[in-house]
Amino acid sequence: MPTDTPLHVYWHRETTAHRPPGGAFKLPSTELLAVDEPHPDQPARVRNVRRILAETFASDAAFRPVDRAPRDAVERVHDPDYVAWLEEFCADGGGRIDGTTTGTSRETFAAARRAAGTALAAVDHALADSSGADGRSGVPYALARPSGHHAQSDRADGFCFFNNAAIAAQRALDAGLDRVAIVDWDVHHGNGTQEIFEDRDDVLLVSAHNDHGAWDPTYHPQTGGLDEVGVGAGEGYTVNVPLPPGTGDEGYERFFERIVEPVVADYDPDLVIYSAGQDPGVSDPLGRNLVTRGGFRTLGERARRLAERTADGRFVVVQEGGYQISHLAFATLGVLEGATGRTFDLDEYGEADPFAWLEESVGPAADALDEAVDFHGEYWPL
Ligand SMILES: [Zn+2]
Repeated sequence: MPTDTPLHVYWHRETTAHRPPGGAFKLPSTELLAVDEPHPDQPARVRNVRRILAETFASDAAFRPVDRAPRDAVERVHDPDYVAWLEEFCADGGGRIDGTTTGTSRETFAAARRAAGTALAAVDHALADSSGADGRSGVPYALARPSGHHAQSDRADGFCFFNNAAIAAQRALDAGLDRVAIVDWDVHHGNGTQEIFEDRDDVLLVSAHNDHGAWDPTYHPQTGGLDEVGVGAGEGYTVNVPLPPGTGDEGYERFFERIVEPVVADYDPDLVIYSAGQDPGVSDPLGRNLVTRGGFRTLGERARRLAERTADGRFVVVQEGGYQISHLAFATLGVLEGATGRTFDLDEYGEADPFAWLEESVGPAADALDEAVDFHGEYWPL
């Protein structure tokens, strides 16, 4: 039966079973500090998002449990040796990987497959013929945890194990689509997505991020700089846009206007995947930006309109980062308000962001965007 529910949330409780090791914030424990704290990637992140969507959208949201991603779907973008290694590492009890900030518990392998399953289900939703017997309209949202966009083809990275957006993009191509655009507004560089698709022209990546550079020259060599434009047949199809700390609602809207919209329109994709990390949020402990619920609402609105103009309306929203467990819920609500064309007037909070208190100074972001437009103008009509 066709359904016209406005929002479809693909999720599963198993994604909360992943418990990365605690320590000194995201770092390992140190004897210099008296108290360990939980790792920033807490199950509360998705629990809070789920609750706020249920409370606000009410019967306008359908919550749809998903299967674990089939192993062959994961191995379309990840090295089978890496997948087997991660399975064994988790079965042995897990822990931090190679001394990095990324770590697992015994349950992580299953949780990561379930997270990839949310992205696959969201893409299948977007590709369903809305006139067919199982047709669906509405916005598909993958409430994924752990996140995916740092996971490279053969390694875990940046709290990510399987690249949910990349697995979903590959599924869409395997289903017969010619071109998929991935727009990544997580405050960190989508380096894993870049690494997976950098030599191909059937997936476009546009990533805006703080200019944090490479985290490790061997483990995470990608910098997210303007000059990483893709290689071989993929040259020009990686569009990195470093943004300065303090970029807020206006800076991100200008990023859409000046770069995302003209580049994606020119690429003319069959599907747009939004790697939606809300850690450019105004109070995120892992970002340095100032985007509010209202700013995320604008991104969600523009995301929907862009897909309508370029991809017959086909788009999915895949959850990436966002670590302040209360703000993440309001920020993600903003994205999905915009994506579904509504604004909720909340008890106590109205239409505003209860966590916004800093003013944006848009000058530095405007300068960074001028530079990015100048640079990427070699490949795109900017
Ligand atoms: Zn992030």
